[in-house]
Amino acid sequence: MRLILLGPPGAGKGTQAKRLVARYGIPQLSTGDMLRAAVEAGTPIGLKARAVMDAGQLVSDDIVIGIVAERLEQPDARKGFILDGFPRTVAQAKALDALLESKGLKLDAVVELKVNQEELVGRIVKRAEEARARGEPVRKDDDPEIFKTRLDAYNRDTAVVAPYYAERGQLSVIDGMQDIEKVSADIERVLDGA
Ligand code: AMP
Repeated sequence: MRLILLGPPGAGKGTQAKRLVARYGIPQLSTGDMLRAAVEAGTPIGLKARAVMDAGQLVSDDIVIGIVAERLEQPDARKGFILDGFPRTVAQAKALDALLESKGLKLDAVVELKVNQEELVGRIVKRAEEARARGEPVRKDDDPEIFKTRLDAYNRDTAVVAPYYAERGQLSVIDGMQDIEKVSADIERVLDGA
């Protein structure tokens, strides 16, 4: 199963990806997680990405495409994967097409979680509060002001990615405002038909 989850920050891609990992036994490839790990480890990529991420902007296509290409080479990605947070630009989508084609692989599904953007800021504030209550560190870019910059980046660069897949007849749109179980059930229905 090779799947892309699309949708703005806070749409629930990470939550749904984790549930799919448990159900299908395939890894979640989150470029945000990979970049945060690189920042944490202080690698050259992490050093380049840090300020961009903290500001809520997009890291360059070259860097992100590079880390995804490397990640797809790992043995655990051979039986499938869930891409979460990638592609975020049409250039990334085209690079992914080329990467998969070079390996003779095809996507099984592209799922967009549609959400009401006005409600997203509230969701993200709640996510930060819950992390704090668990004693976990809160993501710097979950600050409401920076979150708005992330939404702007989504609307400017990423919103065009769903139509890119729709034109190829690969896109399934799901109502991401439903509760978590219902969203999961809708995704499973799409995947069962894929
Ligand atoms: P996320 O965890 O998916 O919300 O990503 C956190 C941050 O990492 C984003 O705000 C970007 O700065 C960066 N990032 C993650 N994925 C990408 C991507 N595909 N393209 C560009 N920047 C990305």
